[in-house]
Amino acid sequence: TVKVRFAPSPTGPLHIGGARSALFNYLFAAGRGGTFVFRIEDTDLERSSRESEQDIMKALHWLGITWDEGIDAGGDSGPYRQTERLDTYREYTDKLLQNGHAYLCYCSEEELEQERQELSSRGETPRYLGKCRTLTAEQRQVYEAEGRKPVVRFRVPEDQDIVINDLVRGKVIFESNGIGDYIIVKSDGIPTYNYAVVIDDVLMGITHVVRGEEHLSNTPRQVLIYEALGMKVPDFAHISLILNTEGRKMSKRDGDTAVMDYFHKGYLPEAVVNFIALLGWSPSGEQEFFTIEELKKEFSLEKVSKSPAVFDLNKLNYINAHYLKQTASADLARLVLPFLREKGLFPNELSLAEQQWVTGFIDAVKEKINCLSEVKSYIHYFIGTEIDVLTEEAEAIMKADTVPVVLQLFAAKVREAALLDAPAAKSILKEITKELNLKGKDVFMPVRIALTGQMHGPDLDRIMELLGKENIYGRLEKTAA
Ligand code: GLU
Repeated sequence: TVKVRFAPSPTGPLHIGGARSALFNYLFAAGRGGTFVFRIEDTDLERSSRESEQDIMKALHWLGITWDEGIDAGGDSGPYRQTERLDTYREYTDKLLQNGHAYLCYCSEEELEQERQELSSRGETPRYLGKCRTLTAEQRQVYEAEGRKPVVRFRVPEDQDIVINDLVRGKVIFESNGIGDYIIVKSDGIPTYNYAVVIDDVLMGITHVVRGEEHLSNTPRQVLIYEALGMKVPDFAHISLILNTEGRKMSKRDGDTAVMDYFHKGYLPEAVVNFIALLGWSPSGEQEFFTIEELKKEFSLEKVSKSPAVFDLNKLNYINAHYLKQTASADLARLVLPFLREKGLFPNELSLAEQQWVTGFIDAVKEKINCLSEVKSYIHYFIGTEIDVLTEEAEAIMKADTVPVVLQLFAAKVREAALLDAPAAKSILKEITKELNLKGKDVFMPVRIALTGQMHGPDLDRIMELLGKENIYGRLEKTAA
């Protein structure tokens, strides 16, 4: 059976790339009746924080990605936070030291730096050349007496090809000679990523390691540890980098890279999931919109591409706009409230009438927006009595002879209307064209400009309905002044 994991380092918020790794693992497990583990790799004590851990979990929850085992979920192979597993690593370190696959190294930072510089100046790859590989007991004692604190290094075998049959990238071969003996436990007793990850993946029974391509170069170091411990090496699948539309590695400068940025902008989680799923994975057919349930059935590693994925915000907007249209306005009303509150509106719990108003508002704008925060640029059409300053073109339209009589009749009809909903508003406008024998645009345009100051905008009947009579009068007065 399949068992996979998402194992972020909690050194910052969850980014799009991390979310994609999590999603691919989640989908891969779900489609195969497998188990999905969520583990925290917090061995970088300085950069790790509980705050980041919380952010990562919040973002995963928001996306609808859940796990069977791990932090908060429990399970038989816990604890699931690496700093709570130090005793376990120590046990394996002792084994590796005993059977000679690892050794203590006492080199100081200065000595190592000197070695690196010498190698670089000879044009060689800086690496540890193994000075402490064969220390005698006496030499060790001298170092200990000097107060040096050793690290544990892995003894990399010479002249060995390390072959990885990556499920995405195919066969990848690394030469052991280029690697140099690397640190598996730091002098403070904390294991390094390349070491802890192996022990955890083994003890947690991970069958497939699905992660970002940036870890491909770490993989030979990990494979050597599996082999030294006589453990079965899992299958690897390294998913490609995410590039921006210019073809460079996506970075903060390209806009929002954190998942929760999209929450705060009012994207829908189902849209973000759909978008992320397509970053490197392509379905077999033409379908472009997938629910997470559909993705669970469709997803396979065979369809994950070797070439880099491109993060295209326009595509995300397109997908999100689709899901906005699909979602009932009453549901969106709840989600849009924070953005209205940012504008100082509806500070208190909504009355029934207000709820209806917000739903109507969403109805009126949801075809026009990419994400819910964009409602902020529409709200002024529908509430209060402020109108935009007229452009010259709009001024000219308002100078037509017919305008005063149109607006007069409009005001009278609004006043007479028993109920000013959108259909009633529409009939009022129609009646005016008929009664004054004018073209539609000679009525709609001046009314629109009188109510909004603008020549374009959301549907006029919706604007009238949501403004209500008092605001309409207020706006008409402003225009007349
Ligand atoms: N802690 C690593 C990271 O966040 C996990 C890499 C892995 O999946 O092995 O990049």
